[in-house]
Amino acid sequence: MASFDGDEKEAVKNYFNTAGFERWRKIYGETDEVNKVQLDIRTGHAQTVDKVLRWVDEEGGLQGATVADCGCGTGSLAIPLALRGATVSASDISAAMASEAEQRYQQALAAGQGRAPKVAPKFEALDLESVKGKYDTVTCLDVMIHYPQDKVDAMITHLASLSDRRLIISFAPKTLSYSILKRIGELFPGPSKATRAYLHREEDVEAALKRAGFKVTKREMTATSFYFSRLLEAIRE
Ligand code: SAM
Repeated sequence: MASFDGDEKEAVKNYFNTAGFERWRKIYGETDEVNKVQLDIRTGHAQTVDKVLRWVDEEGGLQGATVADCGCGTGSLAIPLALRGATVSASDISAAMASEAEQRYQQALAAGQGRAPKVAPKFEALDLESVKGKYDTVTCLDVMIHYPQDKVDAMITHLASLSDRRLIISFAPKTLSYSILKRIGELFPGPSKATRAYLHREEDVEAALKRAGFKVTKREMTATSFYFSRLLEAIRE
């Protein structure tokens, strides 16, 4: 099997710069026509983002707080956080994704969807292992699906090292029913099969967070027909 650090990570990067970029740019948009499955994923993913924004708003917002959004994709979370006044450093292993996120941010501003924050957001092409610095909040939504289990500890340890206070992460949970669904999905050919998808046990993720000094304080689950995502907020103990 390809090693994650070499071939597999490179395959993920290539995918999200080419066919994957085209596929996910549409899914994470509002205007492009998508098929039924993609529409379902778009709806589910938007629910995950809304849950994060609700958590943040309930706590009084993120005005002036620093946020690193790792694996930002097209900016679905980074953009609304920046428009809420956070100082956002958004990054993605795919240069195409990071640049799309930046364009969408400029478009949102031009369309009057919010006020420019005091500090403009940064959008960079960077794998999350290369992100440096310290941030009040570190977010990483739906990226762990690209990490095999034996790489998740290191991923979480690194994300935790970037966070002064809070981590918000989501992942596809490994339960019996989702594992069966995933097997069924693998029997059908399709563009998403260009990269492997990994489900993760919530206990394993939580244990890795604990080892990194974080305690889970909030949990949410989003499940539509084809999109499953467990969302955790963890606070430094
Ligand atoms: N977080 C975004 C969101 O929820 O809208 C995007 C989620 S998308 C399913 C997964 C993203 O993770 C892709 O944009 C991909 O390029 C990025 N990605 C995958 N592996 C990564 C890594 N090792 N470092 C940084 N980004 C990565």
